[in-house]
Amino acid sequence: MADDRPVPPGLANFWNGPVAAFAELEPNVISDEQAERHRIFSLTLMAMLVGQWNGNKYGDTGTYPWREAQQVGTLTSGGNVYGGGSYLGHNIAAIAVDGEGRIIDYEFNHNQVFDSTVEHAESRLVRRVFSLNQIYEPWASEQGSGPAGGGPAAARRDQRPHNRRRVFATAVPERADLADPGEVSMTPADTAPAAAQATPKPSSYATLLNDVTIYTSLESCAQCSGIMCLGSVKDIVYLQWDQGQFLIGNIMWQATNGTKGFTAPRPIRGDEFGFEYFSQLNEATEAFTQGLAETPFYVSADGSFTNATPSVTSFLCTDAAMGIYGAAANELEGWSTATHADYAPTPAALTNQQVLDEAHDFVAWVDELDNRGAPHRV
Ligand SMILES: [Zn+2]
Repeated sequence: MADDRPVPPGLANFWNGPVAAFAELEPNVISDEQAERHRIFSLTLMAMLVGQWNGNKYGDTGTYPWREAQQVGTLTSGGNVYGGGSYLGHNIAAIAVDGEGRIIDYEFNHNQVFDSTVEHAESRLVRRVFSLNQIYEPWASEQGSGPAGGGPAAARRDQRPHNRRRVFATAVPERADLADPGEVSMTPADTAPAAAQATPKPSSYATLLNDVTIYTSLESCAQCSGIMCLGSVKDIVYLQWDQGQFLIGNIMWQATNGTKGFTAPRPIRGDEFGFEYFSQLNEATEAFTQGLAETPFYVSADGSFTNATPSVTSFLCTDAAMGIYGAAANELEGWSTATHADYAPTPAALTNQQVLDEAHDFVAWVDELDNRGAPHRV
């Protein structure tokens, strides 16, 4: 029986056209200043991954011919031992950055920890960011006239926040109604009509992430694209393509761009801002895939199990991948002065130099934490 439903509005423009017109995007226009900013955050993500690198996808013993540089010893019973310890998840991570350039938090892939195929970095990160916002809700605000907890009910009610979403710069206009005028930068609202400034609307969970950019080391799957769409994340920057995900991020952007309701994040490829590690990772993945015909990814110590299945997550265990990530980490470590040091996308935002300084601090902090993110289930 034919499906006689009307064409959904988001698909109408593409309904009778070729798939290519639906899945391919117009190139992003990225200034040199913005490219530098993307580079800093992308290097931050790669440096963070280097600190938590673990290629022991099939255990830390056996033989991984593509991982000789990570070998730390040899077993007398046969096989080798590799650095990294227990495999917790794939070497895929993401960071969220707010509209002013502040890194909100990070997440790693946790598939192995949860014995699950869906614990991806981006989906965990979106839920993490929403959770952070909830954790920080100051329900008993110190605003209002009387001391918190005292006075008549009406006064206590006045002390409550009228807006619970105040953590991220993305909600700057909305924060205006609960912060002291001198406390919060009003820059984005300064350009709005006076009437709009006078009646700031409470921000909604639907718009909380409107200015958030997520940087992910690997192109997003349908799950992660979906959750970022539901969260209305602004941009998704990815540092390597994943051909197995059939350009779903592009497709979702096309279907939601310009329509009412949820909006998928705009995909930005690493090569669109001159990030050479993007093509290096893609090419090395292809070389790995081709090479598996000759050299398996893994052979167990007793020889009973061999893996030679092409997989981007196996590639992300290899010396080749680690070398590219290591070069990026080294670049960040040696980079102390931004070229466009004073650039900021808005007057309230961090400058590129401040973003670079923040990047160094953030990587140092993640190294100090020495874990792959908060162990939350969602
Ligand atoms: Zn995913």
